[in-house]
Formats: sequence, C-alpha cells, structure tokens
Amino acid sequence: MTRDATGAIKHILIVGGGTAGWLTACHLARKLSANAPNGIRVTLVESADIPTIGVGEGTVPAIRQSLHSLGISEAEFIRECDVSFKQSIKFVDWVNTPETPGESYYHHVFDYPENSLGDLTPYWLESQHGRVPYADAVSVQAHICDRGLGPKTISQSEYQGHTSYAYHLDAGKFAGLLARHAVDNLGVRHLLANVVDVRLAASGDIAAIVTDQYGELEADLFVDCTGFRSLLLGEALGVEFIDRKDILFADYALAAQVPYGEPDAPIPSYTIATAQENGWIWDIGLPGRRGSGYVYSSAHTDHERAESVFRQYLGAQGESAQVRRIPMKVGYRERFWRRNCVAIGLSQGFVEPLEATGILVYDATAQMLADTIPTEKSVMDIAARAFNRSVRYSWDRVIEFIKLHYCISRRSDTDFWLDNRSAESIPEALREKLALWRYQPPTQYDFPSRFEIFNLPNYQYVLYGMGFETALGETAARYPNRQMAHQQFERIKAYSRSLSQELPGHRALIEKIKQYGLQKI
Ligand SMILES: Cc1cc2nc3c(=O)[nH]c(=O)nc-3n(C[C@H](O)[C@H](O)[C@H](O)COP(=O)(O)OP(=O)(O)OC[C@H]3O[C@@H](n4cnc5c(N)ncnc54)[C@H](O)[C@@H]3O)c2cc1C
Repeated sequence: MTRDATGAIKHILIVGGGTAGWLTACHLARKLSANAPNGIRVTLVESADIPTIGVGEGTVPAIRQSLHSLGISEAEFIRECDVSFKQSIKFVDWVNTPETPGESYYHHVFDYPENSLGDLTPYWLESQHGRVPYADAVSVQAHICDRGLGPKTISQSEYQGHTSYAYHLDAGKFAGLLARHAVDNLGVRHLLANVVDVRLAASGDIAAIVTDQYGELEADLFVDCTGFRSLLLGEALGVEFIDRKDILFADYALAAQVPYGEPDAPIPSYTIATAQENGWIWDIGLPGRRGSGYVYSSAHTDHERAESVFRQYLGAQGESAQVRRIPMKVGYRERFWRRNCVAIGLSQGFVEPLEATGILVYDATAQMLADTIPTEKSVMDIAARAFNRSVRYSWDRVIEFIKLHYCISRRSDTDFWLDNRSAESIPEALREKLALWRYQPPTQYDFPSRFEIFNLPNYQYVLYGMGFETALGETAARYPNRQMAHQQFERIKAYSRSLSQELPGHRALIEKIKQYGLQKI
C-alpha cells in the first residue's frame, strides 16, 4: 500500500453530465447520501461548452429495475423523454447477402424463452428446424412485435408488463430528467464549469480538479464521466486504452434525426438493425421522430460512400436530414478504477451499439460502485481490484456477443463481412464455444458468472435466429420429452393469439400513458 491518504471517504466528485455522469450521480446519491444526512456528499461538474455525445437511444430491460430503484416514475419518464417501448431488436439482412433487401429478418426479443418444462431448444432443433423461426417457437414476443403491439396494458402498474421490455428515449431529455432527479430529490450538488487541469498529490492520487469557474475542487474520490476523452483516468492518470478494433471493425457512425412520413405513423416497439455492405443501420422510433445511424468500418469504406448508403436508407425523409459523423473508440481502459479515480461511461469503454450495451454497462458499473465503495480510503485499492476484474470480464463478454452477430453470418458481399468471419478476428473463447455448440446446444454452464451481461437466452435467440446449425446426433437421446415439448409449443401459439387480442397498439398505449399515467407499484 503506497497511498498516504487515509481517513473516511466523505466527498465524491463526478466530472461529466452526460447520461453516464447523471446515472452515476443518481446511484451514488441514492445509496450513499439521500438517506444519510452525514453521509457522502456527491457533486457533479459539467461543462456548458462541451456538448454531450447526444446519441444513445436504445436500452435493455435492466433499465426498468434501475429507474424504479432510483424512485423515478415510469409515466413521468415516458412523458418527459419522448419514450417508446422496446421489446426486441429486429435484425434485418444479417444472415445472408440479400437478393431482396429488407425481406429476411429475425428477432432478438427480451422475453426469455419459455422453459417451465426445461429448455425447448433441443426439441426445436430436432423437429421444427427450418420451419418455425426460433423466436416464434419459444416465445410470444416476436408476434407481438410484428403486430405493432405494446408490451403492457394501461391498467398494469408502472414497470410491469405482459412481456419484458425496455425503452427507446431521447438521450438529451433523459440526461435532463436524471439531472433534475439527482439535484431536486437526491441532494446532488451541480456545478457548471470547465475542467482545465487536474492536480495530482505526491502519492499519485488526484488531489483536485482545476476549473475555470470555481478554482480547485477537492474530493476523496473522482468519477471520470467525460466521454471518449477520459480526462481524468486516461489523460491525468495515464491509464492505457485497449483498442478492440481487431475484433469489432466499426469505428464511425453517421447519425440523424428524421421525421415520420405521417404524424400518426405506427411506432415499431423494437429497434431495427439492418445490415449494410460495410456495417449496419439502426432505426429507432420515438413518438415524435425517428433516430437513425449508420455504424461502419472506415477501413472498409470511405465516409462519402457511407453517407450515400445512409441517405439511401433514409429515403425521402432523410433528404434534408442533418447527418452528424461520430468517431467511435472501440475498446476499454486497461483499468477502470485506478487510485482514487473511477471511469464510468464512454471514458471507461465502448463497443458499437448493436445490442445497446452502453447505458447497460454504465448503469451496472455505477450501481457496482455505489454498492462496493469502501468507507475508508486506505482500502480503496482492494475495492478497485475487485471492480476492475468484474468490469473487464463484462466488457470481454460483451465484445464476444457482438462479434457473434458478425462471425456466424453467411454474408459474403464485401471484405467487411469476409474479414468478420475470418478466424483470427474471433476471440478464442468464442471460437471454442461455437465449436462446441455445433454438437450440442449451449447450456447455462456456458455462462457461469453473475457478471455475464448476455446470458443463455440471448445467445439462443441470435444463434438460432441466424440459422446456426447444431447437429444433435447421439445427444438427441438426452431429450426424451418430445410429446410434452410439442404441447408446450402449442400452448405458446395459443397464448400468443390470446395476448394479441388483449394488448393495445404501441402508439395508442404511449398516448394513453401520457394522458392518464400509470398506477404506482
Ligand atoms: C454512435 C453511438 C450510438 C450509441 N447508441 C447507444 C444506444 O443505442 N444505447 C446505449 O445504451 N448506448 C449507446 N451509445 C452510448 C451512449 O452514447 C452513452 O451510453 C451515453 O451517452 C454516455 O455518454 P457519456 O455520458 O459517457 O459521455 P458524453 O455524453 O460524451 O458526456 C461527456 C460529459 O463530459 C463533460 N466534459 C467533457 N470534458 C469536460 C471538461 N473539460 N470539463 C467539464 N466537463 C467536461 C461534457 O460536458 C459532458 O457533460 C451510443 C454511442 C455512440 C457513439
């Protein structure tokens, strides 16, 4: 232990007021200070001059639990952040090079496959393969999505649904809501200032940040939420960035906001991710507008061609759209917590937003920090080591899961797709799993840690949605309950029909919630 700093942790200073900064502020304040008058103080400093990244509109279901635990009303969130529901990611044209673009797709839905009688996957592989799409066979949610329905009824309480769901949201409005909640309800102090320097103590810890408005601001722990720049952890403490572009090639995004063709156009309750020649395009429907972006590899295409592909996708609605080009740093820091500084947000790590992992990982790591922060500075390094191990594990697994979408594709139209399938670009752990899963379906034992971000069902939806072939062979004998499985498939079909009668249209549901609100849990 070389740190000379000892004593209690009394003040945490967060730098950066994007989604990551305000989520972190909310989690820390709720856990450490909101109910403890003499607890830890939380301050957030953000620049009025440096804009937030302004993208990040797709989430995953974990956000529901998080917002609920922070004490945010779902109805208020829906009203204030231009929110729509998200039940799935619809992957279009990912499996084969399309002859007729836009026609082939699969859903990665949020409901876990029905498994009250055990995993139905082997039975689907044996009897249904090639006929009923996997997501349709094991869950009702793909049907619900394709019929344009919402995940809940107006009479269900906040955060409850018939199917699992997350949200699409306006990133700027979301940061605004979190900021108001943090300041008004959780006691976070908010300062507008530019950080112009960072002063280190003799121990190497951060002693203070130097601002243009308030001079030096000291704290016991600093949280770096300054975006890709990573002003504190990366620049001031010199923690190296580990680039993972060797695995995930996409390093730029073009982003635009476009109007609907008609004001009352249906809103998909899923993100549409359409594969393109050198990347893929996200398409997210909010009540007031669409948000779309082309994520592509600059090693495989040039920016002009990328913009032309993107504008062609947007069609008439995109003709006058302002298109913003965003460079993306793909990878993560060698450590996420060093000395008295923790990075959360783009400063920590980032991979392309194919499965909306940004907010998910930042939210999870902000909660982990709030749950594990020591009261005493002298043991900070021990907490840091455990945090670093878990967060590194999570990022490595996220990268493998995103790579899965590319490396089992059969697209061969460009070098981008061929390079993505080349063995040397696939992490060894993923290669090994894929080799195993050729002969037996994945099981829960392939996902042993509680820090898995993506689990067995996520893999099943993507593998079998993409037509991955598992030859059961002799192992078929391990699955003798064919009759029961058949009945279960039939029950899922029947439930899907009855639920379709009950659930409202997606846009109508949002309108009703805005008008009448939802019952609190
Ligand atoms: C193309 C793209 C698409 C994405 N899509 C998704 C998605 O669908 N789902 C998802 O979960 N995530 C997505 N993400 C990630 C998402 O953008 C982030 O999760 C989220 O916005 C968090 O950003 P941040 O708060 O870390 O950084 P930023 O939004 O960049 O905020 C940085 C903050 O630091 C402040 N700051 C910087 N320097 C200083 C300084 N010197 N002094 C004071 N303050 C300073 C700025 O003012 C700002 O407040 C996407 C990212 C990209 C690039």
